[in-house]
Amino acid sequence: MRAALLEGIQKIKMTQIPKPTVGKGDVLVRVVACGICRTDMKAYQIGQRDLHLPRVLGHEISGIVEETGSEVTSVQPGDRVQIAPGLPCGTCDYCRKGMDNLCDHVEIMGFHYDGGFAEYVLVPENGVRHGVLNKIPESLTFYEAALTEPLACSVNMQESVQILSGDVVVIFGGGPLGILNAKLARIRGASSIILVEKRAARIEAAEKEFDHCINLMEENAVERIRTLTAGKGADAAIPCCPDPQAVADSLAVLGKKGRFGFFSGLVMGEDAPHIDWNLIHYKELAVYGAYGCSSNHNRTALELLSSGMVRVSDMTTRILPFEELVQGIEMVARRDDTNLIIDLTI
Ligand SMILES: [Zn+2]
Ligand SMILES: [Zn+2]
Repeated sequence: MRAALLEGIQKIKMTQIPKPTVGKGDVLVRVVACGICRTDMKAYQIGQRDLHLPRVLGHEISGIVEETGSEVTSVQPGDRVQIAPGLPCGTCDYCRKGMDNLCDHVEIMGFHYDGGFAEYVLVPENGVRHGVLNKIPESLTFYEAALTEPLACSVNMQESVQILSGDVVVIFGGGPLGILNAKLARIRGASSIILVEKRAARIEAAEKEFDHCINLMEENAVERIRTLTAGKGADAAIPCCPDPQAVADSLAVLGKKGRFGFFSGLVMGEDAPHIDWNLIHYKELAVYGAYGCSSNHNRTALELLSSGMVRVSDMTTRILPFEELVQGIEMVARRDDTNLIIDLTI
């Protein structure tokens, strides 16, 4: 089968590898769409803690069930499915509490196991058993379904940050994760969404949907947000970009009792932002972290997409053929496009 094999740092080989054999509890999925995100880009450019080479990357996967093991009853060949990429152990304390993204022994498709940048992907038995395969309704395209995983990560963040009705929410970064977080904050009842971004094209797209878009190249976000909130500051701030300044600015733009969502990890080896830690003390800020998503977050995200509560059909999406995967990863690095999806059928 066709596969994009990461053999070393910045070395992807477009090649043929054997089609996986299906064990009793496994499910083989014919990949239709797989999103490229910054996690793939970082894995390609600098490696990743959980990455075992050689490996097929790609964890934002949707496709059609091709073959099921003899013991599988949850799905059948022909089902349209989306895959939650985390394979939890199911027995540790975190798994038992439903926080399987924090599982002590979690394995991730696209890191520990081969992912979606290939013609077929094997969902191992422990994933099938823990419900990582989710059927997608006819109303949802495979491209839209591929956004389930990034939306699920945003659901995880906002369950912690607890966006409430009437909140003023600041999102830093107008890439796919910034837009998904902003859309989600809207349906959770935020009264005002302020998006901070540097790129004019992204601002132009976001202006149609959100209350205020601030171009960092033209104005000072902290001052503008202070003006927009009549000096009070925002209720919640979530940086959805790796810019260290966004972390420092988030703390600065929050009002008293504001909630900070640490969503985007900082790039390893880069300078830590200069943070005025006393802002947390004086304003009594709350700081929440979020990493990945649980299978429950994934199911919630898929419901939000399926019901039309969160619409992603209007997100700027570029569909690339499989052969252009490496160019796609480079586009993600340059932040050229809002949302990039590899279509394995073209
Ligand atoms: Zn991702
Ligand atoms: Zn576990």
